[in-house]
Amino acid sequence: MNTILVEVTTKCLHKCAGCCNHFDGNIEIDYDILSKFLDYARRYCNKLTLCGGDPLLYSKLHDLLEFAKAKDYFISLDTVGYNISEDLDQTIPTVSPRFLSTKVDMLGLCIDGSTNQIAQSFRTNYIDIIDRQLNLLSFLENYKLNICINTVVSKKNYYDLKNIYNLIKNFNNIKKWQLFEFVATGNGYKNRDVYEIADYDNIVDDLLSQIDNSKFLIQKKHKNARSTNYILITPKGTAIIPDPDNNSNIEIGNIKNQSTFDTIIAEILKSNEHRSIYE
Ligand code: SF4
Repeated sequence: MNTILVEVTTKCLHKCAGCCNHFDGNIEIDYDILSKFLDYARRYCNKLTLCGGDPLLYSKLHDLLEFAKAKDYFISLDTVGYNISEDLDQTIPTVSPRFLSTKVDMLGLCIDGSTNQIAQSFRTNYIDIIDRQLNLLSFLENYKLNICINTVVSKKNYYDLKNIYNLIKNFNNIKKWQLFEFVATGNGYKNRDVYEIADYDNIVDDLLSQIDNSKFLIQKKHKNARSTNYILITPKGTAIIPDPDNNSNIEIGNIKNQSTFDTIIAEILKSNEHRSIYE
């Protein structure tokens, strides 16, 4: 699949010390500009991945999902998931799981440890994060939603991966488990000594050798495979190639400027030759 990766908002309920964001305010992508780009790009690209921040906090999420699904994009959305609820009487705007199940083809949820304590060493702000994620996974079994579990593998949890597997292995709607090697960018750059690991390959290979007949796909996401190999459209509309080795980005255009559409799409198609990064 040729994938467009869009960071729709920097808003998030967490402030993880290892986050790839810079936390420079609550910025959202302009919906009209994004939809115009997606409309144009659809003849070349068939998958849309929404990330953030937390895309479920994007104020135009409903419009965007309706639009992208009408254009027949395969939609993948990565979230913490705290505001997925049928209960409208909440302090934060909620997103209905029923609505998500009609629009989102793959919902990514983060689980970074088998206990609240381990997971909280990466995803801060909520001391009961694993209790919440397990409740959410159980709740989502009532809906027709494909789930991808995203784990950031770091110094804080590398020894806990088998326990995470045991925690998630019996949920029927989990289709994929992605094991991302921690990459030091954004906020995470200054905390790289806390999280970076040297032997990601051995750790994950060792885990895989211990798992037989997993019901879901387990994917390695090595940082070298991602470095300078994908295009991200930021909330400001800038299309960038992240270069974590140098803690910088290479700018290739901006979707506000229609004359850069073809350049951006050409780079997306080139980057999708490394498509295991996204899928
Ligand atoms: S890592 Fe994810 S959950 Fe944590 S602050 Fe960043 S966007 Fe939010």
